Amino acid sequence: MFAKLIIKPATSLDNKTGSWRSGKKPKFLHNKCTGCRMCYLLCPEGCISGSKKFYDVDLDYCKGCGICSVVCPVEDIVMEKE
Ligand code: SF4
Ligand code: SF4
Repeated sequence: MFAKLIIKPATSLDNKTGSWRSGKKPKFLHNKCTGCRMCYLLCPEGCISGSKKFYDVDLDYCKGCGICSVVCPVEDIVMEKE
């Protein structure tokens, strides 16, 4: 029996891992963002981008872990059902 192997390194951009999502996705409210960048820095998938006081998620790669929502100090990110 053979397991499926990923031979090429750094292929994560080719694999839209958002299809594995937990059933919830983050919604960026864009109301109170202070631009602290905590969501951007702590997202394990690196799928949050933005600048100044406007950040958003690339749902093609988000796995719905909810970390961004937990670390946002002003509760400007909520998790919602798919
Ligand atoms: S839910 Fe998780 S994977 Fe998705 S944007 Fe937030 S921290 Fe990143
Ligand atoms: S964690 Fe919240 S306040 Fe900080 S940049 Fe992200 S959305 Fe803005």
